[in-house]
Amino acid sequence: MEIAENVEMLEISMNMLGVESKIFPTLIWDDNNMVLFDTGLPGAIKTIQDEVNKAGLSFDKINQIIVTHTDIDHIGGIPDIQDELDHPVIVMAHKDDKPFIEGENRFNKITPERMAQLQEQIKNMPEDQSKPIIKMLQDPPKSKVNKVLDDGLELPYCGGITVIHTPGHTPGHICLYLKNSKILIAGDLLHIVDGELRGPYPHNTPDMEAAIDSIKKFSKYDIEKIVCYHTGLYTSNPNQKLAELAEK
Ligand SMILES: [Zn+2]
Repeated sequence: MEIAENVEMLEISMNMLGVESKIFPTLIWDDNNMVLFDTGLPGAIKTIQDEVNKAGLSFDKINQIIVTHTDIDHIGGIPDIQDELDHPVIVMAHKDDKPFIEGENRFNKITPERMAQLQEQIKNMPEDQSKPIIKMLQDPPKSKVNKVLDDGLELPYCGGITVIHTPGHTPGHICLYLKNSKILIAGDLLHIVDGELRGPYPHNTPDMEAAIDSIKKFSKYDIEKIVCYHTGLYTSNPNQKLAELAEK
């Protein structure tokens, strides 16, 4: 879905541990660059290619990937995309999530208890389906981060992209503000529930206090549209809604 000039919100089906859901990676471009924000789970590349083609765009133009954070449903598609394209694809992420993305460190969101819970969740799956999932959880895909991003950095292409460091969900979670279209790429900081804009989910946000503080940072931006990675496009009075969420 084209949500502004040169901004396409992709709608991708995702099967995470047997649970079907949708994700919404975003693609923006200018004459020289095409930037993909977040990349889905390992294996998502086919669906992403289909969606890009359906939108009348050329997948081969992608030359940069910005990931909002280290979680597997955001970084999982990077290796496949890099393998598929003949030219280098630069990967960018916040410096605080870089060691996790590169596999130098494990981000300890999956505690032993949570791992046991996940294994319970998939125990009735046929082994040929559950085995790759367990492998993926125990040994998540790694990617080199070629360019490190920090709070306030402005990338001077595709109309200008401002990096906003929004820790809480992970230490290096970022949101991206697209200056031309006044769109906020929210990653997993914001969600839409029953049509309403909501803050981070407590069950997968280790530092809720930091995450709420992160929402306060949006007060200096004029935001017309928000793309929530797991729930899609939000357009109804974003500035006012964000101010309300920041107060809670
Ligand atoms: Zn996610």
